[in-house]
Amino acid sequence: MCALCGNGFSATALDVDHIRPLADGGTDTADNVRALCRSCHRAVTTAQARARAERRRAKRARQGRGTLPGRTDAHRSRWSAT
Ligand SMILES: [Zn+2]
Repeated sequence: MCALCGNGFSATALDVDHIRPLADGGTDTADNVRALCRSCHRAVTTAQARARAERRRAKRARQGRGTLPGRTDAHRSRWSAT
């Protein structure tokens, strides 16, 4: 049955989910996989992909601090106002 919602399905209706995604450094070993039903697996995978995208965005924002177009414009308009 599904490790998240507990719904019972036949084995063929369950997906193997990686608790720590392979794309995130997870392993393909028994302690990192669990059986989830299709809907839970899709929800978890979507959330993980969103979290990865969010981390990438945060990293870019940190690295690009001071060079973002929005910040440059704010800086310029503050100076032209004085
Ligand atoms: Zn489920």
